[in-house]
Amino acid sequence: MVAKKSVKTVFEAIESFFSRPETFPSEDTERAFTEVSRGIPVLIADKCIGCSLCALSCPAQAITMIPGGKRMLGNRQVEIKNPSFDYSKCIYCGLCAQVCRQNAIEMRKNVDPIIIIK
Ligand code: SF4
Ligand code: SF4
Repeated sequence: MVAKKSVKTVFEAIESFFSRPETFPSEDTERAFTEVSRGIPVLIADKCIGCSLCALSCPAQAITMIPGGKRMLGNRQVEIKNPSFDYSKCIYCGLCAQVCRQNAIEMRKNVDPIIIIK
């Protein structure tokens, strides 16, 4: 039994030696960003109704609600707040986009990766 486990471990070691690494060299930011990342959260302001659900759900406290001007909601004009993302705190988990019922947050990859460097 022990011998069987040892053989399996050796095969796993050989396999992982020849497989592509899970990590990326730090200078290969663009590849890491396009292949692995979920993208960065971007607000589609005209869909946002200012409910704050994204800010309340953010595990990194990376979202602050800031004044977003006046919007017509139904037949009423109201002052709303919009989320503002602090990309130095964001962990790019995508939760804000998932919880938003208005689909007002998109995780985008077509953004200059330079802005995600912390
Ligand atoms: S982005 Fe979505 S979840 Fe966040 S405040 Fe706007 S509507 Fe609410
Ligand atoms: S992607 Fe995650 S960490 Fe970044 S703002 Fe959204 S919920 Fe917060």
